[in-house]
Amino acid sequence: MAVDCNGGESFKMPEIKFTKLFINGQFVDSVSGKTFETRDPRTGDVIANVAEGDKEDIDLAVRAARNAFDHGKWPRMSGFERGRIMMKLADLLEQHIEEVAELDSLDGGKLLTLGKAMDIPGAVNLLRYYAGAADKIHGETLKLSREYQGYTLKEPIGVVGHIIPWNYPTTMFFFKVSPALATGCTMVVKPAEQTPLSALFCAQLAKKAGVPDGVLNVVTGFGATAGAALSSHMDVDKISFTGSTEVGRLVMEAAAKSNLKHVSLELGGKSPVIIFDDADVDMAVDLARIATFFNKGEICVSGTRIYVQEGIYDEFVKKIAEKAKSWVVGDPFDPKVQQGPQVDKVQFEKVLNYIDLGKREGATLLTGGKRCGEKGYYIEPTIFTDVKEEMRIAQDEIFGPVMSLMKFKTIEEAIEKANNTRYGLAAGVLTKDINTANRVSRSIRAGTIWINCYFAFDNDVPFGGYKMSGFGKDMGMHALDKYLQVKSVVTPIYGSPWL
Ligand code: NAP
Ligand code: MG
Repeated sequence: MAVDCNGGESFKMPEIKFTKLFINGQFVDSVSGKTFETRDPRTGDVIANVAEGDKEDIDLAVRAARNAFDHGKWPRMSGFERGRIMMKLADLLEQHIEEVAELDSLDGGKLLTLGKAMDIPGAVNLLRYYAGAADKIHGETLKLSREYQGYTLKEPIGVVGHIIPWNYPTTMFFFKVSPALATGCTMVVKPAEQTPLSALFCAQLAKKAGVPDGVLNVVTGFGATAGAALSSHMDVDKISFTGSTEVGRLVMEAAAKSNLKHVSLELGGKSPVIIFDDADVDMAVDLARIATFFNKGEICVSGTRIYVQEGIYDEFVKKIAEKAKSWVVGDPFDPKVQQGPQVDKVQFEKVLNYIDLGKREGATLLTGGKRCGEKGYYIEPTIFTDVKEEMRIAQDEIFGPVMSLMKFKTIEEAIEKANNTRYGLAAGVLTKDINTANRVSRSIRAGTIWINCYFAFDNDVPFGGYKMSGFGKDMGMHALDKYLQVKSVVTPIYGSPWL
């Protein structure tokens, strides 16, 4: 399959304005003076050299955040005032939707049309949601059994380290930063090495909006150095991590071996979509195609294990193969394109290796299976049939456009197979029968269940994993709890004994 990599007629190279670390309200070089290359996955060419933060830079950023937390006004101002500043940041981000979306498309190979219509407007709305929550964080009045009165205070947890992945750079940035800002925390963000550009852009918008210096710092660099320094730092109170299960384990280990900081982990997934005989086949085919191939399969909640009941299986297979072939792979700046390149060479090779492995394991390649074009990291939408539960393509998170199709007979079998995974991030159920939908949704061990829909994210819907997909919720009011700690205050009522 050939790929047009010219970005369509309207393509113009976005301007790269910010490439230095953002510490204490200033753009600065790294202490070592080192930089690293961030590349354009459409071609593999270098876009920009970005400051490479390491332990010394993390120390400086944490010191700035600590100072802003211990002595600055952000944790001390009213929630209402923090909310006003966050609303201003949301307005500024809204004014720069196009520019930020272009940075993520260039850096991560994401579709520009979707960045402009979904990712960045979604981040604006999420910020507004938490801005609205900032003055509604309060504790409880306690009913004590003796003559005392007691109440709880919900206090910001302190200095937070956010470590984020590359698949939704701006979305992930605001998933983490928005509730943490609302609670009055200060923070250091370590973006993924593949996609550092939008985080730096958003950091300077925060300063313009009035977020005080030191509250929001961004240190670009590598996970094994900057990321590890943040997660093992003695003066960081909490790490909020999104990424792979393997690295999540390292983050938890580092927290355990340093200051026992709080940790929340949003990790990988291998989500099932269960399609029953009574589902509308055409709708099911469209939904499964989106569940697997959307954002080139680089979504933690991608539905890549597709279980189809035997009565509609053959028709489904025929139709999904046709749909996959008509899915347009190409330049993410071209509005006609439905799938851009994988984020980098490492990810591209990993996905192609899994496709080879699937063939060697004995699955049948229904469609796709090869790279597209000669340059860049494009891969054909790929579907395997005859997939067995124990195969690695059915168990491992591939994080690419690869679907495993499997057949089932009964609801019991579907539930058992869907749960046969170490992950538990999300699941889809397609049926017209309310009893089937209810039974399956209560039986699947996963953090989000979508019935007759998929990727139905919303600000107020808590999102996070079960099992090895991690713990702690992003989005919804639950996310505030990750950045708060509860203090109990007790005092005798006038005249009652002190003990
Ligand atoms: P990753 O390799 O785990 O990296 C995530 C972040 O951790 C990056 O910033 C990375 O830095 C950093 N890191 C790497 N090693 C580290 C270490 N030893 N200590 C501290 N930080 C370290 O994941 P990824 O490849 O970027 O992203 C894909 C994964 O993220 C998938 O597994 C996907 O499912 C998961 N994900 C989960 C969610 C969710 O909400 N559950 C959402 C999106 C993605 P570098 O840039 O140097 O690698
Ligand atoms: Mg890049």
